[in-house]
Amino acid sequence: MGLRGKVAIVTGSTSGIGLGIARALAAEGAAILLNGFGPADAIAALREELAANHGVQVHYSAADMTKPDEIAAMVAEARRELGGADILVNNAGIQHTAAIADFPAGKWDAVIAINLSAAFHAMQAAIPGMKGAGWGRIINIASAHGLVASAQKSAYVAAKHGMVGLTKVAAIELANDGITCNAICPGWVLTPLVQAQLDARAQATGRSAAEEERALLAEKQPMLRFTQPEQIGALCVFLCSDAAATMTGAPISIDGGWTLQ
Ligand code: NAD
Repeated sequence: MGLRGKVAIVTGSTSGIGLGIARALAAEGAAILLNGFGPADAIAALREELAANHGVQVHYSAADMTKPDEIAAMVAEARRELGGADILVNNAGIQHTAAIADFPAGKWDAVIAINLSAAFHAMQAAIPGMKGAGWGRIINIASAHGLVASAQKSAYVAAKHGMVGLTKVAAIELANDGITCNAICPGWVLTPLVQAQLDARAQATGRSAAEEERALLAEKQPMLRFTQPEQIGALCVFLCSDAAATMTGAPISIDGGWTLQ
């Protein structure tokens, strides 16, 4: 319960990695602002589950991460409804795969907006309050693709490299304000975002989903297993702890060895 009294905003926390992070922070006693898309009844059930299991306040904001004014309103809502914005996890993200020559400009803009610019806008809104409190934790969910590239993912790789750069700048600017800013760089995590890529591959090759899973892992990761959202949640809890107080600006790999090669 090391985070009792803290408020955590986790963008894109109605699914996948963000949900794993929200669960891990709630288990440590943090009040949670959930964000992301999904059916209203599923989101209401998530709110109830987190509040009941961990005895924490849970608020939901439907802010669209492509819209800077909604992002600022989300941070204001965390302050108003939950009493602060001590921990900011910039996690919301989308993917689109196509060669640069065929990449739709609208998809490029959407990937950059959600996977990179949203983090800038959320940080801009949250940092003054963190400075006032003399404590803050900003965790940017980048990717192995923040450190190395793959074909067909120009917008995603550009956004994730940008996320690592943004993290370093924030770490320097906030170094003596009690605020750390780090980037987590996961390898493959089996979430809806990756399942869509597996389904597209299976359709293209005619192979089974299980065969595509093995092939996907083997192409990039020496370790032939997926990282679990709970493991990324546990890493976030560590980054919020006093043990990590001087860890800042770091791109932290949790990638089954992907970026070693
Ligand atoms: P996911 O598709 O399961 O979840 C994405 C979340 O973002 C959902 O809650 C969705 O509603 C939300 N979202 C999407 N567009 C939004 C918008 N405009 N406004 C607000 N919320 C929006 O995906 P995931 O795999 O859990 O990905 C989470 C993060 O982790 C992303 O930034 C992704 O790039 C990163 N990541 C994922 C993997 C992986 O293998 N899954 C690996 C490395 C990094």
